[in-house]
Amino acid sequence: MKVAIVGSGYVGLVTGACLAEVGHIVICIDNNKAKIDMLKRGEMPIYEPGLKELISQNVKAKRLSFTTSIKDGVDASKVIFIAVGTPPREDGSADLSYVENVSREIAENLTSYKVVVEKSTVPVETGEWVKRTLNRYGKRGVKFDVVSNPEFLREGSAVKDFLNPDRIVIGVESKEAEKIMKELYNPINAPILVTDIKSAEIIKHASNSFLATKISFINAVAEICEKSGADIKKVAEGMGLDQRIGPRFLNAGIGYGGSCFPKDVDAFVHIADKLGYDFKLLKEVQNINQHKREMFVKKIRDTLWILKDKNIGVWGLSFKPNTDDMREAPSIDIIKALQKEGAKVKVYCPGAMDKAQEHFSNVEFCNDYHEACKNADALVILTEWQQFRNADMKKVKELMRNPLIIDGRNIFEPEEMSELGFDYHSIGRR
Ligand code: NAD
Repeated sequence: MKVAIVGSGYVGLVTGACLAEVGHIVICIDNNKAKIDMLKRGEMPIYEPGLKELISQNVKAKRLSFTTSIKDGVDASKVIFIAVGTPPREDGSADLSYVENVSREIAENLTSYKVVVEKSTVPVETGEWVKRTLNRYGKRGVKFDVVSNPEFLREGSAVKDFLNPDRIVIGVESKEAEKIMKELYNPINAPILVTDIKSAEIIKHASNSFLATKISFINAVAEICEKSGADIKKVAEGMGLDQRIGPRFLNAGIGYGGSCFPKDVDAFVHIADKLGYDFKLLKEVQNINQHKREMFVKKIRDTLWILKDKNIGVWGLSFKPNTDDMREAPSIDIIKALQKEGAKVKVYCPGAMDKAQEHFSNVEFCNDYHEACKNADALVILTEWQQFRNADMKKVKELMRNPLIIDGRNIFEPEEMSELGFDYHSIGRR
């Protein structure tokens, strides 16, 4: 099938590369010329495991190409995905101007029946607006269908997730569009849930909000563990063994970040408000998440006493491991708070050193995790990269001025750290 993807970011590129991999002919489009030029040269604008290889194989096989022209993509394809950003606006609502722009440009270039697919995460009723826009700016008499096909991939394992999803959700209004979407996803082995467009839109916001709720819930329980002397890891294990709960998303830490959870929870709260429902539960989920970052800075202050002129080494900047994505990473708030109190911060992240440059000033960027803890008064762990779990901690201790670790991701066992001679503080454990 011939497919165009408008927006070649984390979702668009992975969708494009994976659909090409399963045999479709895909054109990835972006209005960022520098990005398209990079892709044409075989360079990657983002880091995502396995993506570079997948793109290069499919470009070679002539199933994948890149352009800045929506017109070329629309002319050549039957299915057109909209995968542009839907960032948060000041008031927490989703900024849908990119989706609107692209819908208009698609409309202006429609000359025959196409399926226009919302891949971006959008609030319920966006499909209605996309339809209206296509009608308003399209040529009269040219038919189209709008489909909602939310994406559930996770950065860091996006290719694997796209090719092996738990489910594929397709919100449709016509049998024709349903048939085309099922054919498109036929090579991927996953249950397909067919719904109306609005339900599909809500499935995405509700799923992300539920996962964020699970994280805030366990983080709230971690506070109680810490205050009472219980162990959050054991508590989470005991909860997770209940099949109705399950073990995933029960890792206590410094809270969620990234380009999805914060903005999707915000957008869901906002659309609920607009529709007349005050989603207080989700507002508390957001409060707990923000509070967690503040509590972590307090924990650092409580162990170091005075932060001014202290050397603090930081491991991990990206919002989670295996990605270079810094959007809404807890590291941003935490490092800035430490600097505000006069601490000197040295950082190392296996993935996000380049992208982090624009977020910080007066931070020393180190070449490896050893350098980040050299002469440090404290080592602060903000992202649970595997490399840190495997770190040579004996060497780390020798390098530090003071063997103090404040671990925001619970990557080590307190007994082991204490045997090695560290003063080790983590989340929800004493
Ligand atoms: P991104 O910012 O990485 O990519 C968006 C791309 O769209 C950019 O490259 C931008 O240049 C391009 N773009 C913007 N306007 C354009 C236009 N008029 N014409 C052509 N290209 C245009 O964003 P992303 O992380 O890929 O997210 C895209 C959407 O998918 C968002 O709605 C997001 O919520 C959703 N989503 C993201 C993830 C994730 O893990 N990143 C997962 C699921 C869903």
